[in-house]
Amino acid sequence: MSVRRVVVVGAGFGGLTSALLLAKKGFEVTIVEKNSEPGGRARVWQEKGFTFDMGPSWYLMPEVFDNFFETIGRKRSDYYQLQRINPGYRVYFGEGEKVEITADVSQTLALFESFQAGGAARLRKYLDIARYEYEVAMREFMDVDYRSLLQFMNRKMLVEGLKLHVFEKLDRYVARFFTDRRAQQILEYATVFLGSSPHDTPAMYSLMSHLDMEQGIFYPDGGLGKVVDTLVELCGEFGVEIVTGEPVTKVRTENSLAKAVVTPQGEYTADLFVMNADYHHVEQDLLRPGERNYSESWWSRKTLAPTLMMMYLGVNKRVPELLHHNLSFTAQWEKHFDSIFKNPAWPENPNIYVSCTSRTDPTVAPEGCENLVLLVPLAPGLDETDREAYADAILAQFEELAGVSLRNNLLVKRVYAGSDYLKDYNAYKGSALGLSHTLLQTAIFRPSMRNKNLKNLFYTGQYTHPGIGVPMAFIGSKILAAAVGEP
Ligand SMILES: Cc1cc2nc3c(=O)[nH]c(=O)nc-3n(C[C@H](O)[C@H](O)[C@H](O)COP(=O)(O)OP(=O)(O)OC[C@H]3O[C@@H](n4cnc5c(N)ncnc54)[C@H](O)[C@@H]3O)c2cc1C
Repeated sequence: MSVRRVVVVGAGFGGLTSALLLAKKGFEVTIVEKNSEPGGRARVWQEKGFTFDMGPSWYLMPEVFDNFFETIGRKRSDYYQLQRINPGYRVYFGEGEKVEITADVSQTLALFESFQAGGAARLRKYLDIARYEYEVAMREFMDVDYRSLLQFMNRKMLVEGLKLHVFEKLDRYVARFFTDRRAQQILEYATVFLGSSPHDTPAMYSLMSHLDMEQGIFYPDGGLGKVVDTLVELCGEFGVEIVTGEPVTKVRTENSLAKAVVTPQGEYTADLFVMNADYHHVEQDLLRPGERNYSESWWSRKTLAPTLMMMYLGVNKRVPELLHHNLSFTAQWEKHFDSIFKNPAWPENPNIYVSCTSRTDPTVAPEGCENLVLLVPLAPGLDETDREAYADAILAQFEELAGVSLRNNLLVKRVYAGSDYLKDYNAYKGSALGLSHTLLQTAIFRPSMRNKNLKNLFYTGQYTHPGIGVPMAFIGSKILAAAVGEP
């Protein structure tokens, strides 16, 4: 009997894109989501006329999104428009120093020349290698369905891997090009997007600088939430049913096959199951021990990606001093990463990211107001008793750095951190991003897309290859859809 019905657990980007690709193939698909709205970590929160993208705000790798739309026979531009953010972002280094990365690479080269003599030529070389790494990664490694170690540890991988600097760490690699702290920080910060520290991330991920400095940082009109809305609209067009507000509490199994997912309201039977909910939660809470791929002790040995302390702020005035994306880099760079990955603690003087999408898009804040989202990467699992006071102190720190006054103008303020990720997404230890991209948690070493004990149960989303990030979730679902075959 051919497989026809699919249940997807979770309506994050991984779940929505898998559902659409499988529906396009002819499967009948139902998504079961615990929260009252779809989008997962990319949900939108609205309050007093302000709209906040709760999660992602950098739309990178636009061709991945466009390819997805083509695969399902649609055109992205029929659903939402993109604009390139320019300047892409501003960086505050403290003591009044700030720089901007613009869409004009020659300006970025000049900026790096001002950091250190010869910096322009060095950055040009760095970016040329980054482009090469990106092209090879996209062509050879990104959408591979890794099933055996041989696919990874072979001659080709060794040869290409050396060229791609897979076996070198990013901080050392960057230090070979630049001695200036500011140059190093700009090139290393991208590892935060990968849930890693520059000290532990393969240098291949220097390709991220090609994305932000050369390909560009984009904004979908309406924000990242518009992408979620579009996928939901497409689900309607493709007959995908989305059930919200129903947490799956168990997977019912029989003879090495998943048969149904159980929720407090009933159960959903299917021939094939795609788990987009956090991997650890699915395995430890929804499956029985003999049905899991990995044990609790396996998980305890993994390097977890940070959680994120977020502040969603509605401000009753315009803040022209800020750009759409703003970063503040601390001189205590390593100390902040150590507080996440080595000695978990609330960092005293952390790196801070602030987005202000109302600088670009007037629809996301009431007239004359701005919506700000402040983000600080943190170790997962910290005691959060004093988190409100900590958040206020960080906001004060940012006000001073950026020379803006915000605290007396707040109409909306919400702090969101690790325990919220745990409650809202069943996130392992409250991690916002899942598993770090260390070498031993990349490609074949990421958790498997297939359940080895239940032949009809698969996983999708940021835990599986290729990993963290919105475009990665789209690519992961493409790999999954190819692997499950036809209905
Ligand atoms: C604050 C933040 C900023 C980020 N910034 C960027 C960025 O700028 N650019 C970028 O590309 N990426 C960014 N990322 C990463 C990116 O957002 C994620 O990698 C991606 O959205 C993860 O999608 P997912 O489908 O894997 O998981 P999720 O979005 O978490 O989806 C999983 C879904 O499963 C549901 N679920 C869990 N348990 C159950 C259950 N028992 N029953 C039913 N449903 C369940 C959850 O509610 C959730 O909806 C950011 C992430 C965060 C948190």
